[in-house]
Formats: sequence, structure tokens, C-alpha cells
Amino acid sequence: MSGNERGVVVAVDGPSGSGKSTISRLVAEQLGLAYLDTGAMYRAATWWCVREGIDLDDADAVARATRELPLTMGTDPAVPGVAVGGEDVSVVIRSTEISTLVSKVATNLDVRAEMRRRQRAIIDEERARRGVVAEGRDITTVVAPDADLRILLVADEQARLRRRAREVHGADDEAALEATKDQVLRRDADDATVSSFHEAAEGVVTVDSSDLTLEETVAAVRRLVETARAAGS
Ligand code: C5P
Repeated sequence: MSGNERGVVVAVDGPSGSGKSTISRLVAEQLGLAYLDTGAMYRAATWWCVREGIDLDDADAVARATRELPLTMGTDPAVPGVAVGGEDVSVVIRSTEISTLVSKVATNLDVRAEMRRRQRAIIDEERARRGVVAEGRDITTVVAPDADLRILLVADEQARLRRRAREVHGADDEAALEATKDQVLRRDADDATVSSFHEAAEGVVTVDSSDLTLEETVAAVRRLVETARAAGS
């Protein structure tokens, strides 16, 4: 890029198990774009509050801790590190404990305002560099409604449960599906009280991955990004 050129901004939202992290990351990697995992930011805030011994029911204390969160987000899709106070937390924030608690922090509206501010700053910075794929629950609607391309990635409930069960339990039998329900259905129901990610907003393209392989979904999203890039150049 040179002169006044700027990178493409792609916003991807979707429910848990829709494959949005994997797909967004692969598309970013293949197209030379940055990648922003906004869910990891809410997970990092949750981890930090737990570590600091903050009562998650104390909304003001949680909001204060989030404003002070010393978070560094890596945006390289090959190694999207997440660090808090210099400590790599990218693995620990995926634990079942954090997955169970994260919606409590993410439904705090002051926390959301702080995260929105940080997410917009990262997106603006990457827009001026190579362009970015940012994914989460409210990127197409709230954080980057002006993105060049906005995608809602959906999949039916069974497909989402199966994917998450394989990811977390390494199996998708009945017991694994049952054990995954809290992480998928309850969490989405809680998250949906503050964000809208089941229905595409106006101008948002829906991609349904229920019957597509990972490769097919990546290819579909890539085509959309390439078209948006061509339209913007
Ligand atoms: O995508 P992931 O499962 O890592 O997201 C973790 C949690 O972060 C979600 O369950 C939701 O509570 C919160 N989140 C959010 N808004 C976003 C991204 C994630 O509220 N843009």
C-alpha cells in the first residue's frame, strides 16, 4: 500500500461454534490482513478480574478493572498472542472457567464501552496499515458498522454444538454434546441480551456454514473479501 491507500476492514460476527475465529484467522492469514479476536479481549478482562479477586457481581469494580487492564493484543493471524501485563494469557483465557464466567463481564455496559474504544483504536491502526479482519459479537453492528465488508457467520445449533464439543472434549458423542451446552447455548443466550448476532443487520452478508467444510467456508468468505477489496480500490 502507498499514498492514500488504506487496508480493507472486514467485520465478522456470529454465535459460539459458528467457526468465526478459525475462519477469520485463516482468511486474514491467506490475504495478508491483520486479525483481531475481540472475544479474547473480553476473556482477558474476565481472567484479570478473577486474578485480581474482583467480585464479578460488583459492576463498578469490574468496569474500573477493565479500564485499567494492561492488555496487549497481537494481530498477526499466524500467532495472535494475548498478553496482560506482559504475561501471555492466550491459553489460560480459553479455560472452561473463563468460558463460563465471561458473559458476566461482557454484559457489563461500561466494560463494553471500554472494549469498543480499544477495538476501534486497533482497527483504525490496522486500517492504515494492511487491513484487518475483526471478529466477535457486535463488530458488524456497533464496533465497525462502517466496515468495508460485514459478515454474519451462522450455523445450525447441532453443527455448532458438535464443533465446540470436538474442540473442547475431543468428541461429539451425546455426553460431550451435553457438556458443551453451557458453553454454547447458555453463553449465547446471555450474550444476546447485549448484542445482536443471530440476525444479520441491514447490509450484513450472512454466510451459513452448517453444511460447508472449513475449506469451503474459508473460500466463500475469501471471495467476499476479494470482491470488497476490488470495489474499494
Ligand atoms: O468468541 P469468544 O467465544 O472467544 O467470545 C467470548 C465472549 O466474549 C462471548 O461469549 C461474549 O460474552 C464476549 N464477546 C462480546 N462481544 C464481542 C466478542 C465477544 O460480548 N465482540
